[in-house]
Amino acid sequence: MCGVPSGRVHNLINIAVYAVSASGVLIASSQGVVAVTPAQALYFTLAYAAGTFLLSPDLDLAEGNVNSKRYWGVLGFLWAPYGMIFSHRGLSHTWLLGPLTRLAYLAIMVGIVVGLISVFLPGVRLPTLPQSINFPELWPTLLPPLLGYYLSQWLHLIADGVRPDHGMRHGMRKIRKRF
Ligand SMILES: [Zn+2]
Repeated sequence: MCGVPSGRVHNLINIAVYAVSASGVLIASSQGVVAVTPAQALYFTLAYAAGTFLLSPDLDLAEGNVNSKRYWGVLGFLWAPYGMIFSHRGLSHTWLLGPLTRLAYLAIMVGIVVGLISVFLPGVRLPTLPQSINFPELWPTLLPPLLGYYLSQWLHLIADGVRPDHGMRHGMRKIRKRF
């Protein structure tokens, strides 16, 4: 390996930063400095945990065996194509687009599974998306999980020594090479 932190080290860093920032937020909210609702704290925490354990940038190694793939259990194989598409520490390890590639990939996977269920098990009632989405109203709900997810990803990138402008210099070159 080339001296980058292992999955276990990434997990420990993210857990430590979570513990420190959660205590900070708890103290700040008890002093009335910030106002965080229990729901916002929960969404932030869930997204942060998902970003740390299930949607790590190192899924770009999922064609092999990597920590974050193992957390998916029997569903781990679903990430193998992601690992084949994205070269290690390329676009997957960029600050803005990288985390989005995993969300988009996950959405496609969920879409395929839902599609298969509706074809083969037409009797199963699947949850439907709301007809209209009011973004200004949703913003307070969306912001905490978005922050939690991106923060977990950025800590990984910082620990890897990846700079925020990595996407411009490195990622684009990698994409061009691949497609
Ligand atoms: Zn990494």
